[in-house]
Order: sequence, then structure tokens, then C-alpha cells
Amino acid sequence: MKKATWLLALIILLVAAGCSKEPHAPDGTGQDAAAGVAGPPVTEVFEARIARADEEAWNWLSHGRTYDEQRFSPLDDINVDTVADLGLAWYFDVPTKRGMEATPIVVDGRMYVTGAWSIVYALDASTGEELWRYDPEVPKSWAQYACCDVVNRGVAAWGDSIFVGTLDGFLVSLDAATGDVRWRVDTIDRKPPYTITGAPRVVKGRVIIGNGGAELGVRGYVSAYDAATGELDWRFYTVPGNPADPFESEALENAAETWTGEWWQYGGGGTVWDSMAYDAELDLLYFGVGNGSPWDRDVRSPDGGDNLFLSSIVAVRPDSGEYVWHYQTTPGETWDFTATQHIILADLEIDGKLRKVLMQAPKNGFFYVIDRVTGEFIDAEAFVKVSWATGIDKQTGRPIEVPGARYEDAPFLMMPVGIGGHNWQPMAYSPMTGLVYIPAQDVPGIYMKEPDFEFVPEFWNTGAEFETLHLPDDPAVVAEILASMSGQIVAWDPVAQRPAWQYQHAGPWNGGMLATAGNLLFQGSLVGEFAAYNATSGERVWSFPAQTGIAAAPATYAVDSEQHVAVAAGFGTLIPLLGGKPMAAANFKNYSRILAFKIGGEANLPEPPVVAATPVPEPPQSSADKSLLALGKDKYYERCATCHGLDVASGGLVPDLRHASHDTFDSWDAIVLGGSRRDKGMPAFGEIFSKEDSDAVLAFVIDEARRAYARQSQGE
Ligand code: CA
Repeated sequence: MKKATWLLALIILLVAAGCSKEPHAPDGTGQDAAAGVAGPPVTEVFEARIARADEEAWNWLSHGRTYDEQRFSPLDDINVDTVADLGLAWYFDVPTKRGMEATPIVVDGRMYVTGAWSIVYALDASTGEELWRYDPEVPKSWAQYACCDVVNRGVAAWGDSIFVGTLDGFLVSLDAATGDVRWRVDTIDRKPPYTITGAPRVVKGRVIIGNGGAELGVRGYVSAYDAATGELDWRFYTVPGNPADPFESEALENAAETWTGEWWQYGGGGTVWDSMAYDAELDLLYFGVGNGSPWDRDVRSPDGGDNLFLSSIVAVRPDSGEYVWHYQTTPGETWDFTATQHIILADLEIDGKLRKVLMQAPKNGFFYVIDRVTGEFIDAEAFVKVSWATGIDKQTGRPIEVPGARYEDAPFLMMPVGIGGHNWQPMAYSPMTGLVYIPAQDVPGIYMKEPDFEFVPEFWNTGAEFETLHLPDDPAVVAEILASMSGQIVAWDPVAQRPAWQYQHAGPWNGGMLATAGNLLFQGSLVGEFAAYNATSGERVWSFPAQTGIAAAPATYAVDSEQHVAVAAGFGTLIPLLGGKPMAAANFKNYSRILAFKIGGEANLPEPPVVAATPVPEPPQSSADKSLLALGKDKYYERCATCHGLDVASGGLVPDLRHASHDTFDSWDAIVLGGSRRDKGMPAFGEIFSKEDSDAVLAFVIDEARRAYARQSQGE
């Protein structure tokens, strides 16, 4: 688009929005954009622009659109009356076929979005034309450290730079015009098994980034880097280190009193892998802290304790990282109950008083309203089915736990299970309806102790039996679990602390939310529909067959005075990795794409290819005895199931081992023990599997393959 047309479009938008104030006009509003740069001119992003984002509603400048992360847009051309004419404006094919979780950032007609393997795509937001691409070339072998697929939740824009955190722990500054690398810093000192999947935020010229890896055994922290130079400004550790070394801060010295035993040997966990928010007036940066490592508190902190700052929301000064307050949602966390879920800031009238609140629906199933000035607990109520606590004590803000929920002596049927009543999929808050829209789910599972737990560096170290996520043999229990599994939009009234309405989906693990001034909600689903709902009533008013599951949250923006809604489509993440059973129910396909819609959009997706189900080849004969098969099953669920799936049934992201060729079976030890397929992402298990373990897993896999082959032969 020509510059003059571009500026005209901005002016028309302003008038259309009825906005009397001038937008913040930083240097380089386009006038001095570099010649020869593809796409609309690059304009610079600064704090004042993000803080006054409503004055330029055509943009989506930061992860949650604004620092309060409400994911509400004032754009209303697409509304309950016009949405029927919403159609596909364009689509962009992303070449990877793994999970898509990013929220697109849109700055004056330029879109920046990430796909799997931390690859950044810059697109023309009006056409979907690719302007540049940055591939950080993450080593495929790093996939073994990613608990839940090689995903990335997006970039941050600041000045004329774009920032991305890579799966293998680098933070990279890119030239927004060209995608050229400006700086690249190592945020993890090359220490596996850290990973980055979260979107950076930029506050006061500092790029804030956390990391993941708590399932494998790391010590969580969040870091702030100078946006201009990439220099480390401060780092806040979320759990204390070895008390024999000096504590990094007084806050950590105090936190250490809530730990027992020798937790530092296991890392402790507490990774800051997703949510942040910023209140400029209070000058507080908030972030959510993850679960303990290992999961089972009896392992990492055997004499109990709250284990701060696990499962907490922490407020710090963005200039220094200095601790201000914390609120812990799940004291003594022992279930993978992170508080890394989306944080929304809003001002609500509660008991006749206007309160500055922070809202979160963490994995543990309770919706929290916290005073964001002080961290004081205001209220919490369950937004999904909860079996581990009867409620939150209104005086202390602590959960009232059900006896046995800590699975000390016997397995316990948990609701929600570790993937949470709500996970990373962003919520949205509409100031028009006063409701928070939660992509919620009911997924139960059984927890039990892992007998003879041994910590193995760089591998899964939960201390809880992973087979708890595997359906047990008792058909009555299986029926109970399946019947209670569901996914829904919960439209939550945060003042009354109860749902205003709910919309029931086909299953759990649906997409993040977007709310707009058109009184609409947008959300994609597990079964591949992208839909709009009336934000007041929950009535479904529009839908589009996306051909693929959608987990990411949409963004909305305008170009040429036309409102668009865009979403990263494509389904990966945890559930397909867990395998065939859950995914068969969802008719799993992954077509990774960016989809953009507008009123009157007439683009069409290509017909999906017809892929015939590949038959299971005849597996090798097996003479394995029961004890070898039992050992193989044990080892498989310890180390293999998180990628290759429950019951050796792949969800489609990684090879289905029941279909393995004889060549694979013949080279088994070289692959499993020796790491000969490391370049494809298959780790070497030589240090933790004995030859007998490897033989046993092979026998178990062949046994499962033979069962599948037999079912196929019987025509099932
Ligand atoms: Ca976790």
C-alpha cells in the first residue's frame, strides 16, 4: 500500500471510531521507514502506545492487546448484526505441522506471528502475504525437553524491533522491517532442560521472559533484558536455591522457610512459562508461577511446607525485579497445579467499593479475584468440577483440602487433573458485559505415588505415577472418567463469582478467547470450528469450518478501515502427543495456518487431502513373557508415552510405533539407547535405560502392535 493511502486509512479509522484525541505519534510513524521494505511501513511501538491502545484500536500491539491483558477490542464493525456476513479474507500456510499457540501482534498493517519451532512470520495483515520469516533453527533434539509440544505463544513488539523467545532458550531481537537479527542472548546458559514457549512482554524498555521445564527438574526464574542492547537487567528466581549458597534476595530467604529437605537437588520448579500483566499506575509487573518439581511434594519437600513461590502470582517492580507481594493459589502444590494461567487486570465494583483487581483461573479449578495493589485475597469460587478441595477459606484464602487428595496412601481421583480446569488458552474480559470468558474443561485423572522414585536429570521427574493419566483397567472407573470429561466456555461474573452462562463443546482443550465491542466472543475448538458467540447470551451466531483443531486465541485489528479477526489454526500441544485415543475422538488433523476473516471475505480454504488410513504392517513375532511385558509397559509410561501416546497410539504428531517398520525394530537399540534418530527429535536413553529396559519396551511396543494388527485383521 502507498504511504498516502496508508495515512488516509488511519485518519478514516480515527474518525470512524469517534475518537477526538490524536493518537500517539511516535517518531517514524511511517515517514522515515526504510526504502525497499516489503509491506506497510514499520511504525515504532512504545509504552505510551500500548498504555493508550484504545486510541488506536486498529492495532493489536501486545500479547493481550493491552498491558491489563483483557483481550477486549473496541472494534465493533463486526458485531452481532453483521457477523453473519463474516468470511475468510485470507489464509497463510505455515509449513510446520506441530502445535500453534500464538496470538498475532498487529502494528499498523503488519502482522507478526509465530508457529512451531519458534519460527516468526511477518505478514501483510491485509493480504496474508509473507514479508519475511525468521527461523531460529532450534535443534530438533531440544523437543525432548518440551513437556507439551514445540510450541510458541507469540512475539512482542517494541520500538522497531520484534522479540521472540526460542524453544532452546534464546531471546532474539529482530528488525521489524526485515527480520534481521539485532541481538540474540542465551537466557539459560545452555542448561537443559529449560525451554521457552511463552511470549515476551516489554515494559519500560525491558524485555521480560520466563521459561519452562518444571516437569523435568529445573529452577524457575524470570529475566529482564534491555530491549536496545540485550543486556541482562535483572533476574527473579521463583524458588530458593541451596541455602549453603547466599540467597539472591530477602524474598527468597523468607521463601526458603516454606521448604524442607533438599529441594534444590530437584530444581524445585516454579517456572514462569506464560502469564504476565503490568499496571503502569501502580508500577507493578505481575507474573504467574508454575508447579513444583517433582510434582509430589513428599519427594521435593518431605516435611511439608507451602513451598513459595510455587503456584503463586508474584508482583515485582519492573525496573529492578524487586519483590512487592505474592498470593499463592495452591500452597504445597503436589498436582502440577500451576498459576501460570492468564492474568487479567480490571477495576471492579465489589461490595460498593471500586477495587483494582487481578483475576486468574489457574489449573486448580478456582476463579480468583485478588487485590492487585496489595495481593490481598478477595474471593475465589470453583468454575469447574473440583474434587480435591471443598472451597477456598474466605478468611485465609487457602484451599480447604479433601482428605486423601494428596494421594499419600492411596490413588486419588482428581478433578481437575494436571492439564487443569483451565490451561494456557487465554481468557477474555469484556467491560461491556462485565464477564470473564474462560476456556474451561473438566478432565479428571487418578494420581498415585511413583514407587522408588529416582531423579534422572533431563528427563521427566514428576514423582507421581504417569500411568495415572492412562485409563485404568476397571471399566466402571473408566466410564466415570469419560462421562465427566468435557470442555466449555464459562462466562464468569467475577463480582457475583458465578457463571452467567456456559457453552458446552464437544470435548476439552478448546481455543483461547477474544471479546469485542461488537458484543461478540470468538473462539476456535478442538473439533476444528472457529465460531462467534453473543457475549451477553452465549448464543452461537456464526461459525467457520477450519479443517483443523484450534487452540490459540484470536486477535482483531483493522486495515484499510476493515476490521479483521485472525487466529493461528492447527492443533498440536499436549493432547495429540498423549495420543490416538483422545485424538480419534476429535478426528485430529493439523493444517497449521493463519486464518483472517472480514465482513464479505470470500477466500476459500483448499479442499483437505483425502488421506486413507495406513494399515498396520504385520509386526514381528514375539515370545516375550509377562514379566518382560510388564517391565516394558512400566518403562514406556515412564519415558515414552508423553510423545508416542497412551497405549502406543500416536496422536499424529510423532510416529505411531505400532506402524514401525521392521528396519526400525531391527535398529531399536541404536535408536533408543544410542540416539541414532536424535536429529529427528528422538532422544538417546542409553544413560537411563539398561539393555533389558530397551528390550522390554520393544517387547511391549511389538505386543501393542500385534494387538492393533489383530484388531485390523478382524475388520474392527
Ligand atoms: Ca507443569
